[in-house]
Parts: sequence; structure tokens; C-alpha cells
Amino acid sequence: MEKVTQLDTFRALSERVGRFSVQGKTLLIPEMNRIGANLLAGVFRSFGVNAKVMETYEGLHLGKEFTSGKECFPCVVTLGDILLFMKKEQERLGDGFDPENYMYFMPEANGPCRFGMYNKYHRIILDSMPGLDRVKIATLSSEDAYSLDGLIPKEQMQDFRKAAYLSIVAGDILDRLLWRIRPYEKEKGIADKFIDEAMERMTESLSRHSSKRNLSRILDDLAETVKGGKEIIDPRIPKKPLIGVVGEIYVRTHLKSNQDTIRTLERYGAEAINASIGEWINYTTYDQVRLARIALRLNLKRFRLKEVKESLFQYLKYSLNLFYQYMQQRKVYRMVRNYIDIEEDHKIGHLEKVLKKDNTFSFEIGTEACLSISSALELAHRGYNGIINIFPFTCMPSNLTSSIAKPLMAELKVPYIDISYDGSFQPGREAALRTFMYQSYQHFKTHGRP
Ligand code: SF4
Repeated sequence: MEKVTQLDTFRALSERVGRFSVQGKTLLIPEMNRIGANLLAGVFRSFGVNAKVMETYEGLHLGKEFTSGKECFPCVVTLGDILLFMKKEQERLGDGFDPENYMYFMPEANGPCRFGMYNKYHRIILDSMPGLDRVKIATLSSEDAYSLDGLIPKEQMQDFRKAAYLSIVAGDILDRLLWRIRPYEKEKGIADKFIDEAMERMTESLSRHSSKRNLSRILDDLAETVKGGKEIIDPRIPKKPLIGVVGEIYVRTHLKSNQDTIRTLERYGAEAINASIGEWINYTTYDQVRLARIALRLNLKRFRLKEVKESLFQYLKYSLNLFYQYMQQRKVYRMVRNYIDIEEDHKIGHLEKVLKKDNTFSFEIGTEACLSISSALELAHRGYNGIINIFPFTCMPSNLTSSIAKPLMAELKVPYIDISYDGSFQPGREAALRTFMYQSYQHFKTHGRP
């Protein structure tokens, strides 16, 4: 193993983690949300990028081997994914393996959370392996609402951004379709099979039409897919208790990390809905609008004209982005809801109002706790029969959520449970979920469901 000095490490963090052009490389996308990752890969392919969703969780042993146990669980899982992928590529290609051909995609979030450190940590580990220091890490940050500057050629950026956002919303819709139809399927297993095929069809549609600015064709394909999904439902099966899922975005959407909690809930009689990926994207844009507004006010107060201009520009830019995202999201959900009653997403401004009204938490503190606490409150007020908070063991924002949401849910008499994951199988977990579902069923019997 080559000796890596501290100076080399710092240089690598600035030179080999960043916004690099992904053209001509194999872009390696880690699978968080299975459907969303595949649809996004379809958009990249449409713009000429050879994007691949890496196999996930099979390399967990490697992730564990190169971490100390103190890191966030998603950092361990994604590290295992990239290490296993590289190992298999080396074995497959032998002397033909060239690390320069790959670009590893690992976005980040700023703020008090450790998500901003995953790609740095992965960089250090890759650098300690012969040749893998040449695999660059392409990143996007929540600091500028995941702007794509530098990754995609400037002239394609606007079109790419629109198609990528549509892929996120379409991924959310397919997930919601699955959770809507699977508890009521006519025959066991047909909903999963249907969604697998739908994912393939939508990935193909996105890769064919995205770069041609033909988003309406993608929407038509989505509408056709959703129509077909409705046929899976057996109308004789009565409605079931409705459970809302909140928590840390990676573990609550990564099926293997959360040991497919939603399926377990369904086994005990639930219909469950997870928070969406679009919610997080809208939140990062909303937060930039909020910060730009604060900066603008401050600069106006101090009469700093140059800064006023800059913060006004930022404010308008992010406000327009947010407007576009909401408009597109509403349009897609409305279209889909003509065929099937899936849940719409809440607006982030509404969630902030929920927190302000109850004076329980503040967007000033940031992190996903803002979304999880406000969503839990919103869903409870709307009559959901139970709330589950899913997160990685030791996750800071999710423990904050737990400490605030749990007593609030007890006050509202809405069943609530925290479930944390770290890769281990705990014998009591299923019993806890079963008990939670018993309580949710009692709530359902007494109050009905929304
Ligand atoms: S949200 Fe939780 S799991 Fe994710 S980086 Fe922050 S502390 Fe880690």
C-alpha cells in the first residue's frame, strides 16, 4: 500500500472531490431509493453519460472493514457499495481496468450533519487502495440546492435539471403507487412485479426523451403506467390503518438498510406511506430562499449595496427554482390523481408553519428534523393512525426528532415508534412493530382514517 501523507490527503479532498464533468466517464450512482436512482440514471444516459446504479448492500462487509463503527450507517453502506463495485470491475477487466474511466457520484449536505463528510471519508479510503486514488468523486451540495454547475455542459444544464427533477417526482409516484396497491393486491406478488416493470419502462422513457425536451411524452408514459397499477387493486379488500413514515432519508428509503420495514408493516395489516425524495429536494431549495431573504434584509439594513444586489439575485434565482419545482410536482400529482388516489406532497412552507404554530422546532436549526417533526405533526392532525420514525442508529437529527415528536404524539394519542438500524438483526424489532400495528389498528377502529 502506498504511503499517503496528511498533505496529500488534504489536497485530494479539494482536487478529487468536487464538481467534475461527468462526460466520457462511467458515472457510478449509489442506490438509495431503488426506483429514483434508476430513473435518474436514465436521465444521465439521455444526456450521453454512461450512468450505472451500483449493486447495493452486498459489500457491507467491506464498508465495515474500513470504518470504525462510529460513522453513520449510510456512510458504511455506500462505502461498501463502491469498494465492492471496484473490486468486481478489477476482477472482470483484469489489465484492462482503468480507474480513470469511473466517476463516483456522492452528493452531500452542509450544516451540522455528517452527510457532508461521507465523500471526504470515501476519498481517504479510496486513496489508500492501489490505483483507486484516480477514481474521482463527483459531488453536489445542498448548500446551493444541488446545483449541477460543472457536472453537465452549461448549454444542457437547464434541460437536464428539469428532466432530473421530473425523474425524482416520477420515482416518488411509482413508490407511492406501490404502497397504495400492494396492501390491496388481487394476488400475492403482482404489485411488486408490476412496479419492477414500471420502473424499467419509465427508465427507458426518461433515457429516450429527456434530452429531446420531450417531457410530455414522459408524463404520458407515467399516466399509462399508473392506470395499469389501479387494476392490481382488489376492491373487495377493506381499507387498512394508514401509517406515515418519517426519518432519515437514506435509511428510510433504502430497503436493505431498513430491512424493508414497510413490507413488515403491511404484513401486520398496514397501508404505509414514506416521506418523499421530492420533499428533501424542495426543502433544500426552500432553505436557500429563506437564507437569501435573511441576507437581503440584513444587507438592506446595513445599506451594503453590492451585497444587496448579490442577495437579491440569489433570492430571485432560488425562488424561481422553487416555483418551478412546486409547479411541476403539482402538475404530475394532479395528473396521476385522475387515475388513483395517491397522497400529494406537502409544501415546505406549510410544514414550517406547522412548526411555528406549535412552537416546537425551528427551520433555523436545520437538518431533516425540521421535516420529520413537522410531517409527523401534520400527519397526526390529518388523522393518520400511526407514525414511524426510521433512522440510522446514532443519527443526530433523527434522535432530535424522536425527543420532540414522541411526547407530542403521546399528547395527541397517535401511536408512534422509533426504529433505528445499523445492519444488525434484532429479535425484538418485529415484535415492537407488531405491537405498534396493534395500537394503530385500535386508533383506526376508533377514529377511522383520512
Ligand atoms: S442525517 Fe443522520 S445518518 Fe445522515 S449524516 Fe446526519 S447524523 Fe448521519
